[in-house]
Amino acid sequence: MEQELLFSDLGISDEILKAVEDMGYTHPSPIQAQTIPFLLAGHDVIGQAQTGTGKTAAFGIPIIDLVDASINKPQALILCPTRELAVQVEGEIVKLSRHKRGISSTCIYGGEAIDRQIRSLRKGVQIVVGTPGRIMDHMERRTLNLDHVSLIVLDEADEMLDMGFREDIETILSEMPKERQTVFFSATMPKPILDLTRKFQTNPEIVKVLRKELTVENVSQAYYEVKPSLRIELMTRLMNLNQFKLSVVFCNTKRATDEVTEALISKGIMAEALHGDLSQAQRTKVMNKFRKGSCSVMVATDVAARGIDVENVEVVFNYDLPLDEENYVHRIGRTGRAGKSGMAISFVTGRKDTLRLKDLERFIKTTISRMDPPSVGDLV
Ligand code: ADP
Ligand code: MG
Repeated sequence: MEQELLFSDLGISDEILKAVEDMGYTHPSPIQAQTIPFLLAGHDVIGQAQTGTGKTAAFGIPIIDLVDASINKPQALILCPTRELAVQVEGEIVKLSRHKRGISSTCIYGGEAIDRQIRSLRKGVQIVVGTPGRIMDHMERRTLNLDHVSLIVLDEADEMLDMGFREDIETILSEMPKERQTVFFSATMPKPILDLTRKFQTNPEIVKVLRKELTVENVSQAYYEVKPSLRIELMTRLMNLNQFKLSVVFCNTKRATDEVTEALISKGIMAEALHGDLSQAQRTKVMNKFRKGSCSVMVATDVAARGIDVENVEVVFNYDLPLDEENYVHRIGRTGRAGKSGMAISFVTGRKDTLRLKDLERFIKTTISRMDPPSVGDLV
């Protein structure tokens, strides 16, 4: 039903409609269709939807239409858990606002020299995206003035709390003008977040888009029983047979990530590793190669892959089964995005894995189909 709604039904400006079209978005995603009208109408909102459902534009679009381009002061503040996500969110804001005159934004995060940030704030921006620690830092230095902020978004609120930002967030929220919209977006809504919403929001509209809608319905899930040492062989056969253009392979350790990457490369597959030891610049390089298609396989750990979005991932391989159920959902959510279909292939290498697979099936309330290897015999 929501699928039939168009962006033009949501009350957004022509400039944004044009930007959205440029970006190739044909229809609003369910979380966008349901939250944008509330935000434009001035409500507080709690938006819950899993990774990859388009939460960024769900708040980005209304923010761009709500801020006053003639006033060069911060009017909207978006808090993100990591600098990577902050950069991604600001990038999306820039794209969405490209046809609107006079809208500017900046990104503020730890680990970067503060001078550039001070300069960009001084120039006057309406939209500030940043990580809580550095935002606090600028508040204390009085290089960021929140007096005109009328809307604050806590993006990936669950992750921010996991990362220990609770106190910073409370301080920031307490020091903002009382007349404002307070918005929470999160994949999950554990109690600490609900406590925060109770403390800082007024009559929030609650929009939940349940996990089932995406992962389970758009991703076909299968597993192969295979000896651990034959996983590379099986994976390369499957890749070659199916001619996947973009695949993500998940491993449980950094070391396995490097080993699998090298093994794939030695079989002539353009693979790149993505894990927590890489510098920011290295990660960005890998992501860009992947986006442009000059590398077809990204081998990643759970941490490195969190929040990263790449379109058109056709298949996710679980080279190692994830250690917890939530991660399984996060992993397979890398494919089947924005209504496209995807595939998740897991390798089960022994009794322990078989039991873990049962747990996964219980958690996602779906059976994962057992497949026979392309040529039986030597692989099982
Ligand atoms: P989330 O924050 O919920 O994890 P993102 O905002 O990062 O999700 O969006 C996930 C991906 O979906 C991005 O690649 C984004 O460009 C794309 N996307 C967002 N909205 C739409 C839409 N309406 N139509 C098609 N793709 C979209
Ligand atoms: Mg997000």
